[in-house]
Amino acid sequence: MLQIHLKKDREVPVLRGHPWIFSGAIERADGDQDNAGVADVYDHGKNWIARGLYSPKSQIRVRVLTWEKETIDQNFFLRRFTRALSLREKYLARSTNAYRLINAEGDFVPGLIVDRYGDFFVCQFFTAGMDLFKEDVVSALSALALTKGIFERSEGRVRDEEGLKPAAGVLAGDAPPDLITVEENRLKFLVDVRRGQKTGFFLDQRDNRGFLSTMARDQTVLNSFSYSGAFSVYAFGGGAREVVSFDSSLPALELAEKNLALNGFAESPGELLKGDAFAYLKEADRKFDLIVLDPPSLAHKRSDVSAATGGYKFLNLHALKHVNPGGLLLTFSCSQHLSIDLFQKVVFGAAVDATRKVSIVKRLGQPADHPISLHHPEGEYLKGLALRVLD
Ligand code: SAH
Repeated sequence: MLQIHLKKDREVPVLRGHPWIFSGAIERADGDQDNAGVADVYDHGKNWIARGLYSPKSQIRVRVLTWEKETIDQNFFLRRFTRALSLREKYLARSTNAYRLINAEGDFVPGLIVDRYGDFFVCQFFTAGMDLFKEDVVSALSALALTKGIFERSEGRVRDEEGLKPAAGVLAGDAPPDLITVEENRLKFLVDVRRGQKTGFFLDQRDNRGFLSTMARDQTVLNSFSYSGAFSVYAFGGGAREVVSFDSSLPALELAEKNLALNGFAESPGELLKGDAFAYLKEADRKFDLIVLDPPSLAHKRSDVSAATGGYKFLNLHALKHVNPGGLLLTFSCSQHLSIDLFQKVVFGAAVDATRKVSIVKRLGQPADHPISLHHPEGEYLKGLALRVLD
């Protein structure tokens, strides 16, 4: 097994539970350094401290899986999955059959995301090391005996950085149908796990959709960056008078139309509009009582942050201008690199420039199935503010 020897004092964060070991913390590696695999980590004094997965091409050279001398195999994954499942069963099983079972570092399985959509799991393998354990992961998921099939949607820039090609397809059991119907808080949604964005649905916004529905009665709503219309369905569920869903993706809007119909809102007042939300928010010639602003991540890496703040400011400025006095703006950033503090500052700047007075009604974040390891604060990515626009 590959042995990673850390520079002096670089073991401290690892011993405190942080799972990432950057190339700069490594003094020496003994063994095959060209290929991904399991690695044992030693401090400067040659004491064993942790075991993880080695990625030869990533700046994050090792992601720690365990601080115990346990074998990384199917049983290891089954123990992790069982522990993660008990959290979801406690808090979520009665309200939804769609949830994130494994949230990477947040569930102490860096490199892996597993979403459950009813009878199907959808997996994302993000690191070269985790990619090697696909069979063990699939066997452990099958052993949970919860689903009929396991599907893979391993894509995105993290895989590029690891030197991995995108991979998608059936990993075990039945192939999922073209659209899976899930039920979340008594509302129904169609999930396209093959062609949809990410694994097909934005599970991380569940609680925030629930909050929106409590504020929606008799309101006119703009759901910008609507994807498959989940916020729109919740808005009607909460009694909204009218909902406009706006997205740049035609397949997303087609799914939104189906989701509205599935919940009995096909004839409800509103529109589905396709276009660039930046332009729409700037130019729309009407106002709304409630606006949802949930753009895709504008900062994919740390160096993007300053450019991204410009984008977030633009969106929030124009959204604020289009909220009726006394109305609400639910504004989000899903960029891990933009801190909550910075996000709030950007929104403050937008409020000043929009010449609106604004108060925070509620801070919004990730739901229980997207836990954040206290030892890995980088796992906190979704942040939101529910803002009352006073005048
Ligand atoms: N709020 C959604 C998730 C939004 S994901 C939910 O709860 O399900 C971000 C969405 O922004 C995607 O659907 C993507 O198609 C859309 N998008 C990306 N760039 C856009 C743009 N410039 N204008 C409008 N929509 C855009």
